[in-house]
Amino acid sequence: MDKEIPILHSKCPICGKTAVLEYKPFCSKKCADVDLGRWLKGTYVVHTDESPTEEDRIENNRMPDDVD
Ligand SMILES: [Zn+2]
Repeated sequence: MDKEIPILHSKCPICGKTAVLEYKPFCSKKCADVDLGRWLKGTYVVHTDESPTEEDRIENNRMPDDVD
């Protein structure tokens, strides 16, 4: 009777597919690994000061109008 297929009503944050209970909140082990890899990478680089994206945004935000 309670043999329902374990499907989550959420989407995999990696690829957007329907998540499954076994690998929640992901859809597969592959996506779970991808997320884990990102997470581990993040912790490894967190001590460095190399985040060019931040400076890039600041530079891009600089409008020529600001200069007198
Ligand atoms: Zn996925």
